[in-house]
Amino acid sequence: MLGRTEFGLTLPYTGAGTGFCHGYIKDETAQCGGVSFHVRPRVSPFSGHGALNRGTQFQRVQFSRRSPSPPPAFLTAQARCHLPGMEVVGLVCVAVAVLTWGFLRVRDLAERMRSPEQAGLPGAGSRALLVIAHPDDEAMFFAPTVLGLARLEQRVFLLCFSTGNYYNQGEIRRKELLQSCDVLGIPPPNVTIIDNSEFPDDPGVQWDTERVANTLLQHININDINLVVTFDAEGVSGHSNHIALYKAVRALHSEGKLPKGCSVLTLQSVNVLRKYLYFLDLPWSLLSPQDVLFMLTSQEVARAKKAMSCHHSQLLWFRRLYIIFSRYMRINSLQFL
Ligand SMILES: [Zn+2]
Repeated sequence: MLGRTEFGLTLPYTGAGTGFCHGYIKDETAQCGGVSFHVRPRVSPFSGHGALNRGTQFQRVQFSRRSPSPPPAFLTAQARCHLPGMEVVGLVCVAVAVLTWGFLRVRDLAERMRSPEQAGLPGAGSRALLVIAHPDDEAMFFAPTVLGLARLEQRVFLLCFSTGNYYNQGEIRRKELLQSCDVLGIPPPNVTIIDNSEFPDDPGVQWDTERVANTLLQHININDINLVVTFDAEGVSGHSNHIALYKAVRALHSEGKLPKGCSVLTLQSVNVLRKYLYFLDLPWSLLSPQDVLFMLTSQEVARAKKAMSCHHSQLLWFRRLYIIFSRYMRINSLQFL
C-alpha cells in the first residue's frame, strides 16, 4: 500500500458528481477546500487508525456519486490519504533492492568475464575457431566475441565457408575480410576462406550438413582447436547459410565427433527490437541467462566499427545504420552446446 490509506467520508449532497481536492484531518472531520466532511470510523485494514491522526495530510479526495436519483441527503465518498513520507520510504526500499540485485548480477558477470576458466572457456593460450558463412559476418555479428576472446588471451582462428560471391564480388570481399580480420587482431595465417561451389553464398541453396561438418572437423583437427564459435539455430539474421553452419556443428557435437576438450559456443539470436536498439538490449542482456557474455568498451566498439568499415562493398545505407544501432556491434551473448 506504500502509505496510501483509504477512509470513508460522508458529505452533504451538493449535486457534484466527482472531484478532487487536497486537505487534512481535523478531529473527526476532513477539511477539504474549505468544506468539512465527517470522517467515518471505517479504516482500511492496511492503514491502522494511526494514519487518521489529527493533522494527517491528504493530497487528494475523490468524490464519487454512488446513489441513484432521487439523491439522498448524504453522498458517500471514498478518500485516499497519501502519506508522502511512507511512499518515499517504500520507493527507496524498492529502488535499493533493484539496484543491489543489479549490482550483484553485473559483478558476477564481471567476475566470470575476468578469466576464461570462470567463463567456462578453455584457458589462456587456447585456440578458438570462429566459423562464419560470409565475409562481414565476423565484424557485423561476432566482433564482441573476437575482441573478447583476445582479451582473454585466446588465439583466434577464422574459417569462412564462402567468398560472398552472390553479386560476383567474391574477390573484393575476400580482401575486405582479410583487412577486417587484421583490424580485429586475427592474423592472415589464421584466416581460411573456402571457395567451393558446394557452399555458394546463396540463401536459396541448402548446404549439405554432412559436407559442411566434414570440412569443419578437418579444420578443427588440423588447427588443434579447443573452442568453436558459430551461429545458433536461427542464424541471427535467419540466413540459411548461417543456419547450415549451426546444423553441421550440432551434428558433430551430438555424434561425439569433436575432439576431446573441444567445446562449442553459439551466438544467441535476439528479436528485432533488441537486435537494432543496443541501448534497450543492454539491461536485457545483463539480466538474461547465457553462458558467456562479451561486452565491448567504447574503444573496442570503435575497433569493431573500423573492422566493419573494411567491407566497403557492403556499406549500404541500412548497414551504416546497423553499425550505429545494432547490439551485435557491442554485445554478444553465447551459449554452450
Ligand atoms: Zn552472413
